[in-house]
Amino acid sequence: MDPMASPRRDLAVRASVDQGLLSPAEPVVALLDTAGIRVSAAALTSAFAAVTDAPVLHAFAVKAAPLVPVLRLLHEAGIGAEVASPGELALARAAGIPPSRTVLDSPAKTPDELRRALALGIAVNADNLQELDRIDALVAAGPTASTLGLRVNPQVGAGSIGALSTATATSKFGVALRDEGARKTVVQAYLDRPWLTRLHTHTGSQGVPLTLMAEGVGEAYALAEEINRAAGRRQVDTLDIGGGLPVNFASDEETPTYAEYARLLADTVPGLFDGRYRLVTEFGRSLLAKHGTVLARVEYTKTSGGRPIAVTHAGVQLATRTVYAPDSWPLRVLAYDARGRPRTGESAVQDVAGPACFAGDLIATGRELPLLRPGDVVAVPDTGAYYFAHHYAYNSLPRPGIHGFTTADDGTVAFTTVRGAQTLDEIVAEAGGDLADALVRPPAGQDTPARPPAGQDAPARPPVEQKEGRSSGSAAPAPRLP
Ligand SMILES: *Cc1c(COP(=O)(O)O)cnc(C)c1O
Repeated sequence: MDPMASPRRDLAVRASVDQGLLSPAEPVVALLDTAGIRVSAAALTSAFAAVTDAPVLHAFAVKAAPLVPVLRLLHEAGIGAEVASPGELALARAAGIPPSRTVLDSPAKTPDELRRALALGIAVNADNLQELDRIDALVAAGPTASTLGLRVNPQVGAGSIGALSTATATSKFGVALRDEGARKTVVQAYLDRPWLTRLHTHTGSQGVPLTLMAEGVGEAYALAEEINRAAGRRQVDTLDIGGGLPVNFASDEETPTYAEYARLLADTVPGLFDGRYRLVTEFGRSLLAKHGTVLARVEYTKTSGGRPIAVTHAGVQLATRTVYAPDSWPLRVLAYDARGRPRTGESAVQDVAGPACFAGDLIATGRELPLLRPGDVVAVPDTGAYYFAHHYAYNSLPRPGIHGFTTADDGTVAFTTVRGAQTLDEIVAEAGGDLADALVRPPAGQDTPARPPAGQDAPARPPVEQKEGRSSGSAAPAPRLP
């Protein structure tokens, strides 16, 4: 618990208005509390240091906040990166995170991705036995600095949010350990591959109780012991226990804590921490969620069927999960006046709506709040992970600017841009703006010969990749139809 988090946020809201960060022209911005992120990184590191002397790599799950400056800040705080796509790997590299502190997990790695990861020396957790076969070929082709592991699904059960429960009987991740014959197959897969030295599990995320997460880790630990007994040596030397600490979205309290989870693991899986295993963790949401806040101006207020509604600029584009699944992902809304001071005055049950053109674009429904007025500011806290960094381009609403902030002892607030706001030109360009004719005048090479007969003008555009084999005179061979 960081008792200064809420006072820092109040200062930042006020300063956003005073310094013109939030304005009628830029009616929505996202803020990151730099000090808060550092506090969480330190809390994670010290929670594990308190229960074990084993080396621990805390790898931040990049998907939770895919922003290069955030990754750099975490890197400087001693946190590595867990990546699950070529894009996330590129972000980690752009942030300067070395391969030795990067872990690649994902359920659908291509041969090229695997080859590249092994060439770089990034740790790879295979998702399944087919992927292990692919890695066999790469390992046989030459030495790699990568440490290699396999993900297992301990099938310990679901939490309260189905979509985030990774250890159900039928989850798509990892080798399902309790399926008929699977355990034996996994042990044999290790015995056949002396270079397979890690075991990975990620038992859940938001909505999964700590006890269930610990149970999943316990299953992975027991399997590692079994493999090592069968191998007659400490073949598995590293356990990657995944992430998934749930976040409290109901108040500023940070519960559960990393320290509670580390103590629970120490109590329930004591062998995990006795120094025989190196450890990797992959926390995402719990490192960033509490440190992000969306600020949006109230554009209009109205009543509909007697219900007051504040129409703001924060909606489905920033809080996608909340808008589509409000019961699983409730967010708080804090009311401030037009100058960015906490709004006082009569409260009313009201809806807080976003700017998108569909009826369900509401970030809060029937919420009791001080009655909002046009020009007021709403703050949506706890949005630092999986919210504003995960823009949803509905209605071509722009990605908002993201700004880090720090506060000084005298209350002054300094902002630095983490990601600039998306411009209208960028929106047009990303929507095929320079390919406007693509459907009305197909580029040369599709309906017209790619190489014009001698003496004719060259096509206005360079020929694009051949998509169909209909044109004559093309250098590319026509694709063979099955
Ligand atoms: C998403 C994910 C994480 C991070 O989960 P959080 O709930 O954000 O902590 C860690 N490891 C893997 C493999 C994941 O898919």
